[in-house]
Amino acid sequence: MTKQFQRMLQKQGLKFKLNTKVLSAEKKDGKVFLEAEPAKGGSAETLEADVVLVAVGRRPYTEGLNLQAAGIELDNKGRVVIDDQFTTSQKHIKCIGDVTFGPMLAHKAEEEGIAAVEFIKSGHGHVNYAAIPSVVYTHPEVAWVGKTEQDLKAEGVKYKIGKFVFTANSRAKTNLDTDGFVKIITEAETDRILGVHIIGPNAGEMIAEGVLAIEYGASAEDVARTCHAHPTLSEAFKEAAMAAYSKPIHMSDKHNAVVGCGNSCLSVPAQIVGQSILSA
Ligand SMILES: Cc1cc2nc3c(=O)[nH]c(=O)nc-3n(C[C@H](O)[C@H](O)[C@H](O)COP(=O)(O)OP(=O)(O)OC[C@H]3O[C@@H](n4cnc5c(N)ncnc54)[C@H](O)[C@@H]3O)c2cc1C
Repeated sequence: MTKQFQRMLQKQGLKFKLNTKVLSAEKKDGKVFLEAEPAKGGSAETLEADVVLVAVGRRPYTEGLNLQAAGIELDNKGRVVIDDQFTTSQKHIKCIGDVTFGPMLAHKAEEEGIAAVEFIKSGHGHVNYAAIPSVVYTHPEVAWVGKTEQDLKAEGVKYKIGKFVFTANSRAKTNLDTDGFVKIITEAETDRILGVHIIGPNAGEMIAEGVLAIEYGASAEDVARTCHAHPTLSEAFKEAAMAAYSKPIHMSDKHNAVVGCGNSCLSVPAQIVGQSILSA
């Protein structure tokens, strides 16, 4: 995913300087001048920019809360230690969000806030950390939820992959916005959806379907047999699910080619989509 996303951004003209460290930044005449050098050493260079966005080094911000005086335990990364009901080392104090464990995301903090109040009120609350989506708000967008292939390899879980490219999706083609794909990872034995990864138009909206599928323990077949409106980007999601458990109908797995999407094409069995329609 990351390699393909990087290639797409490079095509747009973005330049990546990986393994490079910034030595200094200076503001002069409405510009910023960054001095950078290769991480392993080498000659430094000066980069000129209008704006510099710093997107590294986020950490829990607990300064000024006087947590020590309140007797609240922090871990070695400065995060507030909580149990599975968000209770801190002080039984009457609960903690949620960026200052404790988990991804630093607004929707994660929101889920935890609701669950923490429910624990106080009724003794029951629920946050499924396996179903917290992440989104990169670029163009194309990137969104994912659940497991990656790397996770599953490390866990020794056998998995299958279903992929569908937006070049074969009618809405993306109509919008002239076809970069990207939907990738669904399922457990090989049960067909249960374990992870969804999307690069493409509206990925941040479409990932909600993946989150719902994981929350409900859906199989790829469940999603594949669910009717999705035409022409919508979400059809790519359905087709990726079809690819995971069987075959997509609007893309030949042999040629990985785009097939025209007239109404008749919808009823063509997957096996004959590749050759005959392409050559028609
Ligand atoms: C630039 C930026 C962009 C982001 N974009 C996204 C995004 O697109 N999507 C996403 O999901 N997340 C995003 N986040 C992360 C998101 O904002 C946080 O994950 C979320 O706000 C965490 O909620 P929280 O309640 O834990 O903390 P906060 O929302 O930070 O709330 C903490 C509150 O405590 C108050 N406070 C602090 N110290 C004291 C004190 N001593 N006494 C009283 N009050 C105090 C603060 O003023 C603040 O109101 C972004 C964060 C940043 C910085």
